[in-house]
Amino acid sequence: MNLPLSPGAAKALALLQAAGYEAWIVGGCVRDALLGLPPKDYDLTTSALPEETQRVFAAYPRIETGLRHGTVTVLLEGEPLEITTYRVDGAYSDARHPDGVTFTRSLRQDAARRDFTINAMAYAPGQGLQDFFGGQADLAQGTIRAVGRAETRFHEDALRILRALRFASVLDFTLEAETHQAALACAPLLAAISPERVFSELGKLLCGKAAGRVLRTYPQVLGAVVPEILPMVGFDQRNAHHCYDVWTHTAVAVDHVPPELPLRLAMLFHDIGKPDTFSLGEDGQGHFYGHPRRSVELAEGILSRLRFPRRTRERVLTLVRYHDAVLEESPQRVRRWLNKLGPEVFFDLLAIQGGDAAAQAPAYCTRLDHLRRLEALARQVLDQAPCLTVRDLAVGGEDLLALGYRGPAIGRALRALLDQVLSETVSNEKNALLQRLAQMDAENTEKMEPCSKKKDP
Ligand code: ATP
Ligand code: MG
Repeated sequence: MNLPLSPGAAKALALLQAAGYEAWIVGGCVRDALLGLPPKDYDLTTSALPEETQRVFAAYPRIETGLRHGTVTVLLEGEPLEITTYRVDGAYSDARHPDGVTFTRSLRQDAARRDFTINAMAYAPGQGLQDFFGGQADLAQGTIRAVGRAETRFHEDALRILRALRFASVLDFTLEAETHQAALACAPLLAAISPERVFSELGKLLCGKAAGRVLRTYPQVLGAVVPEILPMVGFDQRNAHHCYDVWTHTAVAVDHVPPELPLRLAMLFHDIGKPDTFSLGEDGQGHFYGHPRRSVELAEGILSRLRFPRRTRERVLTLVRYHDAVLEESPQRVRRWLNKLGPEVFFDLLAIQGGDAAAQAPAYCTRLDHLRRLEALARQVLDQAPCLTVRDLAVGGEDLLALGYRGPAIGRALRALLDQVLSETVSNEKNALLQRLAQMDAENTEKMEPCSKKKDP
């Protein structure tokens, strides 16, 4: 068997072996290479003790932050390579961190501490594949199986439960029966995991190709980290637009937006406020007045708790806030939205509304045509290089300064002009804008409002 290696990984293996140590690529890179996917990065495992590894790579740049866990990061051929000594993890008293690590000279022991059979294989050119736990067979069958007793392994480190779901989602695999049962039984242990570790696995899970199926299968596991989702599970909408309960609708909608984190998160949270805002109309139909606002509140709490970066958070909340907004098919309205959200977020909003519509009762999927027309319209509007922000105006701060405007009055006047350009009461040409400004000033004076324009003292 020959697996492709990056130049840096090949060189690192050769250097360690030449110095008399065993060395292998291991874990995710072996799994991905066997699947024919390009490995994201190469992790190496070796019989060399950390100080021996340091000696082998003495001539190369190294980062030693992981030394306590036996990891030396070496920069070879421009690649950072994590080289870790064969390791046995000690007991886990907190279901989070091993109390201590012990180095070993046995590759098998190192493989046994790894989470899943598909992640426990090692490979080196000339030596072939080392697969102690049937990882290759599980890869072929699309199975996530814990190495050893699943329940024990989840008790040692509960994050593995979320990792199991993450790999199931990303690879479109299923959990083997014992691993599946243990994931359900041990889910409450996830509450002890640090938000940073949860955040990373959750993000990857959501962006996987089978995210919807995993969400539908494991709401209780996700609910151990994000209990706010639980009221959605099985919540009957009692509304003709909907053929699913709120959670199933959410999971289906997640699959219908591109695998980008802000979109997937916005879909996950768009209806999270529904159970709290439910009311039954006289017609027997369920309504959820004001649910986007409640969804924003709940999502904001969750995203801050899990320490999602501020930019992601803001993008998600904007999309949740407007997921139900009525978008009219007129160039003027579209220009307003483009001005309000910026083109990128506006197109994301169309994707969100599309995901939402695709997960409703089939009779109501006609909204998809409306969204396609809106997208075409927005592209047309943008092709005309429209004026969408004050920066796009044909007059600027300089012009207003020359006219005697000072301080906040400048921003106010520019925003007022932009507003008129957006509603097409004036064209974005310098003379037209200056004329309009003079008019607005005159009107303001007539109304005896304090003049927006302040002359030099
Ligand atoms: P990715 O492609 O996302 O990097 P990966 O499998 O490489 O996936 P990493 O988090 O980079 O995942 O971990 C590298 C390897 O370390 C895994 O393949 C697995 O063998 C082992 N590992 C990582 N986290 C754990 C854990 N919590 N418990 C046991 N083994 C783990
Ligand atoms: Mg990795």
